[in-house]
Amino acid sequence: MSDKILVIGESRDGVLRNVTFEAIAAAKKISSDGEVVGVLCGSEELASQAQEMIYYGADRVVTVTNEKLSSYTSEGFGQAALAVIDDENPSGIVMGHTAVGKDLTPKLASKLEVGLISDTVDINHDGGQVVFTRPIYSGKAFEKKVITDGIVFATIRPNNIPALERDESRSGDVQQKTVDISDLRTVIKEVIRKATDGVDLSEAKVVVAGGRGVKSADGFKPLYELAEVLGGAVGASRGACDADYCDYSLQIGQTGKVVTPDLYIAVGISGAIQHLAGMSNSKVIVAINKDPEANIFNVADYGIVGDLFEIIPMLTEEIKKI
Ligand code: FAD
Repeated sequence: MSDKILVIGESRDGVLRNVTFEAIAAAKKISSDGEVVGVLCGSEELASQAQEMIYYGADRVVTVTNEKLSSYTSEGFGQAALAVIDDENPSGIVMGHTAVGKDLTPKLASKLEVGLISDTVDINHDGGQVVFTRPIYSGKAFEKKVITDGIVFATIRPNNIPALERDESRSGDVQQKTVDISDLRTVIKEVIRKATDGVDLSEAKVVVAGGRGVKSADGFKPLYELAEVLGGAVGASRGACDADYCDYSLQIGQTGKVVTPDLYIAVGISGAIQHLAGMSNSKVIVAINKDPEANIFNVADYGIVGDLFEIIPMLTEEIKKI
């Protein structure tokens, strides 16, 4: 088997997601001197995305273009990815631990009859083995895992393994591969999008999350203003979603999104264990709560005890001055 790591790229609206670049950095951590080969699937021109993967460290990129790949389906993208894997015979495969990554990689691993380590946050080496670190028990502990046989296959959690610097002097081949995709048993007829504020919650560097303490949908407006001045995204507890203050697509936690931003500001959130499961690995946590005994303060790096309706506008005004 060659020392070659495939990185399966993922894009949205024709733009590669940042986790793709982090996956390239992860591939280099798995094998510092192996070849990193990007894989891109889609129905339209993929050359500029392939070039981006090279600028971020891929040695070469294989693109599969087919009209049946216009929207993601595990069946279509699975066939395309398997055809590339078959050709390339890699020693490792990496993909982002995103909704698509979580759906596609188990299918590939089962077809390939290999192991899969999901939701990795760090990669090291020990005694010749590649060691993957991943959170368990809702982020309360970490486990270290190795794959002892076959392809080293892992997904990486966004915002944990820093991407390499983009470098336009990097060069590499872009190869187009033709794959016959069989008629799909499931096809996407239409995607109905929810309005979003632009920054992708799972990849945001700053998250301002509101809880039931925010009290209403209107109460979320100051949180959106704070998120905007910080260049971040707004999230929410399930308490806030259940109360209809915001959409469930914003929910963070065990049954929502898992985020690892550089800065997480929890506003009027009590810190239930199910919420902590989605945010406790954030790099810096700031909690704003009027109850000094709130559990969220146990995971916070900085805590402000007080009324969020006074604190958030003040914070926003002060940050605007910087
Ligand atoms: P509360 O617990 O009601 O807390 C509100 C907080 O706001 C309080 O601490 C209060 O002191 C503070 N507050 C009130 N007014 C103000 C003010 N003016 N200024 C400052 N602070 C104020 N929850 C999730 O978040 N994500 C999940 O994915 C999730 N999954 C779940 C899965 C299961 C199976 C179960 C059983 C539960 C799950 N939950 C989840 C729900 C979770 O247990 C909590 O009920 C929920 O997180 C509580 O939301 P909250 O902190 O917003 O509300």
